[in-house]
Amino acid sequence: MSEQRERAVSVDVRDHVDNYVGGRWTTPEGDSSQPVVDPATGDELATVEFSTVETVDEAVQTADEAFEEWRQTPVVERVQYLFDLKTELENRLEEIATALSREHGKTVGEARGEIKRGIENVEVACGMPNMMREGSGNVEDVAADMDEYAVRQPLGVFTAITPFNFPAMIPLWFLPYAVATGNTFVLKPSEKVPLSSQLIFEAVDAVGFPDGVVNLVNGGADTVNALLEHDDIEGVSFVGSSPVAKHVYETAAEHGKRVQAQGGAKNYAVVTDQAAVDEAVPNIIGSVYGNAGQRCLANDVVVGVDTVYDDLRERLIEAAENLTVGIGLDEDTDVGPLITGDSRERVLDLIDEALEEGAELVLDGRDFEHPDEDLDGHFLGPTLLEGVTTDMEIAQTEIFGPVLCLADADDLDSAIEMVNSTKYGNASSIYTESGSEARQYRYEVDAGNIGVNVGVCAPMGFFHFGGRKASFFGDLHAQGEDAVNFYTEKTIQIERWYS
Ligand code: NAD
Repeated sequence: MSEQRERAVSVDVRDHVDNYVGGRWTTPEGDSSQPVVDPATGDELATVEFSTVETVDEAVQTADEAFEEWRQTPVVERVQYLFDLKTELENRLEEIATALSREHGKTVGEARGEIKRGIENVEVACGMPNMMREGSGNVEDVAADMDEYAVRQPLGVFTAITPFNFPAMIPLWFLPYAVATGNTFVLKPSEKVPLSSQLIFEAVDAVGFPDGVVNLVNGGADTVNALLEHDDIEGVSFVGSSPVAKHVYETAAEHGKRVQAQGGAKNYAVVTDQAAVDEAVPNIIGSVYGNAGQRCLANDVVVGVDTVYDDLRERLIEAAENLTVGIGLDEDTDVGPLITGDSRERVLDLIDEALEEGAELVLDGRDFEHPDEDLDGHFLGPTLLEGVTTDMEIAQTEIFGPVLCLADADDLDSAIEMVNSTKYGNASSIYTESGSEARQYRYEVDAGNIGVNVGVCAPMGFFHFGGRKASFFGDLHAQGEDAVNFYTEKTIQIERWYS
């Protein structure tokens, strides 16, 4: 057995995927199921059974019953469970990181970073007593004998439906805020990577939340639709591709729920001749090739403005060539495999189409083969295309693979036009030392998250996170103050006293 393969199989991951409902682990009895596959080795790790409409109904009813008592639990008591959850997750960080790396393929360093970003949201939600107070507002003396208040109240059962690319962090964008505000919660994680959620829920179980406050159901599209249509679900958070986000938004809204649906992305970066290129290059490389490009904040098109182009091109090629592709559990790996064979094929098709449309291949990772022959993974080597223009499919479609597209522009105005040419609006970055260029970029680019000399502009938990245009369907975003508004209703209370 090769060294890398031995390293992978040495990690013990759960070989079963259970639901967690009403404080008990149960094995879902589904009509269909799917194997959970290690994308680096091709090994089948477990099977996930898809929960049926009946199983979803049981989970939602359990959460609904738990709501009455949970909403009466003072917020200062509710957050004590989150303080404990933070500790439990920190104690299990290494165990979750290795399981996450194995089921997803990302490097174990990326997995640790992801879990820490998730824990950050638990920490922010621990401040819920203060967060719920802020923005509530009251006006005394509306009239001589009358006061008016706005009081925040939880609504009931919320669900979150999450994607494959951040199996630990994204569930934690929602769970802590939902329960800290007094709601109860049902998570439906991605069926491609359900094992991380098993471990997160082992931490939830160890904390001992009252039964039914935090629940987990596994499954696929039918499970999601059962949640979207359930009468007792008050609100839906979704993160995934834009077509599914739109479906979730429309279906949930049709069924009278509040909904926040984060979709796909197409993010550009612009490097001007005022940039500190030495610092820009590692930032760009991390943004494009990190997580094997499977990140909604990846800047997969990089526009070099005017004279910076040639120097930037040379440095990016050199840096990309030096990346190491391998299994995520190897600490030396920079780029892990793609999640499935289909994902890899999709990226290869996009590259072929770009070449037919006139782009040129400067660095070709298409034929990458891992030296360990017994690793049957979906690897793709770092790839770099140049001569990419905005009319090409690859310039408009999310790549979700380790592919960097280089384009050039005569000036900042035309670069910004290119950035705004896509239907998405998740994120974008500019590399410049000029304040006026940065200011123009921030002002004119239509995206929810803008980085200045920052390649992955992921906001910290105390700020909201979400895109614009086809990257987001809804109103209130995830995290921070938006999360408090999403998970609570402000009731107006008007008082008059006669004596
Ligand atoms: P996906 O849309 O395939 O799946 C996401 C979730 O939706 C999963 O839980 C899945 O079970 C469910 N689902 C899939 N098809 C469905 C259907 N027809 N009906 C109902 N439910 C369905 O997304 P993915 O491939 O897991 O994740 C990658 C996508 O997520 C990328 O487009 C990426 O940009 C996006 N993403 C966006 C953000 C953001 O903040 N905007 C963050 C992370 C990922």
